Amino acid sequence: VACETDPAAEAPARHRVDRTGEPIVRITKLAKSFGDNEVLTDINGAVHRGEVVCIIGPSGSGKSTLLRCINLLEVPTSGEIVVDGQSMTDPDIDIDAARTRIGMVFQSFNLFSHLSVRENLTVPQRKVLKRSKAEADRVAEHNLERVGLSDKIDASPASLSGGQQQRAAIARALSMDPDVMLFDEPTSALDPELVGDVLNVMRSLADEGMTMIVVTHEMAFARDVADRVVFMADGIVVEEGPAAQVIGDPQQERTREFLHRVL
Ligand code: ADP
Ligand code: MG
Repeated sequence: VACETDPAAEAPARHRVDRTGEPIVRITKLAKSFGDNEVLTDINGAVHRGEVVCIIGPSGSGKSTLLRCINLLEVPTSGEIVVDGQSMTDPDIDIDAARTRIGMVFQSFNLFSHLSVRENLTVPQRKVLKRSKAEADRVAEHNLERVGLSDKIDASPASLSGGQQQRAAIARALSMDPDVMLFDEPTSALDPELVGDVLNVMRSLADEGMTMIVVTHEMAFARDVADRVVFMADGIVVEEGPAAQVIGDPQQERTREFLHRVL
């Protein structure tokens, strides 16, 4: 029987989550405004190594802004974000170096259309990580295999389906050896029959121990894969907890209302 002081009691042992060390991502009193529109208010949280956190909530609640603050695509108005010991809000930060630790996959696949799949995966490794061509190729081949796209290495992105492009985008992010992967509605732009392949790739990444923060409307994925689910509305965290609790037995009226609409 788990007692209250057992941190492992917070989540089922779905993935091997290391709650003893420093979290990979720690967010403290984060706020973000665009002009006088405050879209994030006092966000706090930590994501530990190996943990999969799904963020759910209505459109406009600040989910994308939160992910974008984590890798400084948006600059927080106040508060602190630490990724693997590096304060992202430190004014002296080397942004490019810090960002290499954070893989990001967007709703739109955003591969470079004028480059082959291979080049999409190898150019960032060579430029940012200074890998040799041979090493970058080896890593690209390995990661395309992980997402089931080995046979597309020399294809152009335009010749791929949306689901294949999204899997290539995941492989590209993985090729940078990130400590954490951020996914912003990675399947929202896909035809329904292509969603499953992408979710399966994400599920296998989670099973391999990748630390992941996933904004998603796929409630079955959140319920089955997440160690923890965070429900956001109007720029605040309304409720969070184990997936089975937040999705199966929500405590807050706003969470119940949202789930009624989407389930
Ligand atoms: P979600 O991803 O949950 O749908 P967003 O983070 O995209 O929510 O948006 C939250 C709010 O922030 C919305 O009101 C949106 O209009 C606003 N917003 C997001 N990005 C910008 C921006 N670059 N400039 C101004 N307002 C923005
Ligand atoms: Mg969004």
